Amino acid sequence: RIGTAALAVQVVGSNWPKPHYTLLVTGLCRFQILQLLKEKPYPVAEVEQLDRLEQFTNQHKSEEELGELSEQFYKYAVQLVEMLDMSVPAVAKLRRLLDNLPREALPDILTSIIRTSNQEKLQILDAVRLEERFKMTIPLLVRQIEGLKLLQKTRKPKQDDDKRVVAIRPNRRISHIPSTTEDEEEEDDHDDVVMLEKKIRTSSMSEQALKVCLKEIKRLKKMPQSMPEYALTRNYLELMVELPWNKSTKDRLEIRAARILLDNDHYAMEKLKKRVLEYLAVRQLKNNLKGPILCFVGPPGVGKTSVGRSIAKTLGREFHRIALGGVCDQSDIRGHRRTYVGSMPGRIINGLKTVGVNNPVFLLDEVDKLGKSLQGDPAAALLEVLDPEQNHSFTDHYLNVAFDLSQVLFIATANTTATIPPALLDRMEIIQVPGYTQEEKIEIAHRHLIPKQLEQHGLTPQQIQIPQVTTLDIITRYTREAGVRSLDRKLGAICRAVAVKVVEGQHKETKPDRAEVGEGEDCKEHVTEDTKTESISDTADLALPPEMPILIDFHALKDILGPPMYEMEVSERLSQPGVAIGLAWTPLGGEIMFVEASRMDGEGQLTLTGQLGDVMKESAHLAISWLRSNAKRYQLTNASGSFDLLDNTDIHLHFPAGAVTKDGPSAGVTIVTCLASLFSGRLVCSDVAMTGEITLRGLVLPVGGIKDKVLAAHRAGLKRIIIPRRNEKDLEEIAVNVRQDLTFVMASCLDEVLNAAFDGGFAVKPRVERLNSKL
Ligand code: ADP
Repeated sequence: RIGTAALAVQVVGSNWPKPHYTLLVTGLCRFQILQLLKEKPYPVAEVEQLDRLEQFTNQHKSEEELGELSEQFYKYAVQLVEMLDMSVPAVAKLRRLLDNLPREALPDILTSIIRTSNQEKLQILDAVRLEERFKMTIPLLVRQIEGLKLLQKTRKPKQDDDKRVVAIRPNRRISHIPSTTEDEEEEDDHDDVVMLEKKIRTSSMSEQALKVCLKEIKRLKKMPQSMPEYALTRNYLELMVELPWNKSTKDRLEIRAARILLDNDHYAMEKLKKRVLEYLAVRQLKNNLKGPILCFVGPPGVGKTSVGRSIAKTLGREFHRIALGGVCDQSDIRGHRRTYVGSMPGRIINGLKTVGVNNPVFLLDEVDKLGKSLQGDPAAALLEVLDPEQNHSFTDHYLNVAFDLSQVLFIATANTTATIPPALLDRMEIIQVPGYTQEEKIEIAHRHLIPKQLEQHGLTPQQIQIPQVTTLDIITRYTREAGVRSLDRKLGAICRAVAVKVVEGQHKETKPDRAEVGEGEDCKEHVTEDTKTESISDTADLALPPEMPILIDFHALKDILGPPMYEMEVSERLSQPGVAIGLAWTPLGGEIMFVEASRMDGEGQLTLTGQLGDVMKESAHLAISWLRSNAKRYQLTNASGSFDLLDNTDIHLHFPAGAVTKDGPSAGVTIVTCLASLFSGRLVCSDVAMTGEITLRGLVLPVGGIKDKVLAAHRAGLKRIIIPRRNEKDLEEIAVNVRQDLTFVMASCLDEVLNAAFDGGFAVKPRVERLNSKL
């Protein structure tokens, strides 16, 4: 019930890294609580002052009464202070205070200076009567004096040090004070530092690191805990101890097992799997990692990350993914220098700390999306990480000592190589992972995605059935992508909808025997009807629990996923002259692109829209020039019947999806075909798509991304594809079943392109010389 009133004079400290404040208060008086008025948010009470009331008026009286006691106390106090080093200003001041201050204030002051436990201090504070206070403090003083004497005896040579005020606190062994919480805390911290030092000494860190750590721990010991730097240094040392300097997992690699594992985890992607196995085999033979760094390049959702994970699994190594998308600060890779508040190690070192071994598989995801900013170029920082000649001494700014990364297996992934800085690209071996065909997607869905989704949603094949036609429907009408991520999401949506039905069915009285019957074909027919009538999303009709397994047919699909998002629009779009279908390559895979042209009266101007790059604009000019120079030969005329196509005519060319920037030379042949259609008034075949670069002479040059483009055309249901003759070799990469569905026309000049693009060919007026002989 007794407390001390005090005035807060100063508050110092901070909230970081953990709240730590030091409060400086001046004690005013003791008080007693009469009545507690409220407790929250902070206690308020009515109090009564207990001492220092009339201290000056009562001085004489109290001195008389306490004369002997206070005299005795004073003597001990002087004895104690004189044992200290008078040259320290604080000690001299204390000595003066002993004489100048009123005697009754002395017990309080001295108790706060000498080594006492918290409990003892509280006892002194609780002692309201002065006499009692003197009596209680004297033994403490005596104990301190004895302690000091002993200390001086045992540590004679260092006497000077002991005389400092701070050294008033005798060694724990000498004073027999029972330990209290605060003491314990202090001791704990001290113990922690000692433990830390022990850990540092026993850890297997490099010599250089050990030296730095020992230096830091020396500093730490001298630092007051309230300093923000204390926490910083401690965090640093703890990280250094935690880092796996020498800890590694043992590689287990059996190529045959690896092959089986890769095959089990991933369908298709033969080229990638073959290259990965080669890589692993070489690693096993050579037993070191100084090989190229693999970089998987391909559209999203084709399994790049999951192959990386499988590689770690085959090797029995830890796996860690570092997402680099949008990273634009090099300290993300290399860490901040420790001079910053809030400095941290970079992602590489952090990753090593997380996995706890020095030979994990690190997957550097999306290296093509590294940014650049004023804070430096993260790609440049990655150079050091990825270079096998340098990375054995990778220096993180935070650590400031080298860490050997040569045991780490780095694998990178990217959507395109175009945006990877050349120096970085140079250090990696690119493995292209193209998109999947429809058949491959169906297989992937049924072998991997559906079982995975069922498991995630707690469903069993007895509850839901997704036939292959439905999967094909999802692939063609609800997704348009090179990978399988959106397909996976759609399957997830179906599983969720079915889960609701299943649970609803369980709430109603379930008929478990139906599940077994559900296997039969007849039942499926019945179920189809059932799902049709009883809309999946229609929760009103709860009377009938659904039949198991719930079969996902076209109607159910429409209920769950809504109306199809993509329809075959190809045939519709080509119902007028001046439209042709081109094939474009994007980082997300191949795409078909409708090129539209129209003409109007004007002054021979060409307007291009659809966010085109310079190369594409040039292609358009090339196409027009070629057509103008060949107008007579093809009998192309403008509206007024003139062979000069631009005479009194303006042309507008548009490449739809204007929000996406497009560039590249491969649209050349499409523009020519589109304009030829416009000026001849003939329709381009609706099932033909084309790609190829053109020259002024009318030659067709090879272009890249053929596989993705062909797959896109196949997805869109096109039948005939015109590609440059020199790209013929690229067709080998395409699955046989896709090739069988399509007719390929190899073109080496524009005549061949036009002939293939129009039904019945594109008439050429008989001529003596061939085009390219004009040169
Ligand atoms: P990426 O890294 O290429 O964007 P992910 O590796 O994240 O793609 O793959 C997305 C999902 O598709 C994963 O769940 C993965 O298991 C699955 N997936 C992709 N390709 C295949 C495949 N060939 N076989 C099995 N699953 C695949």
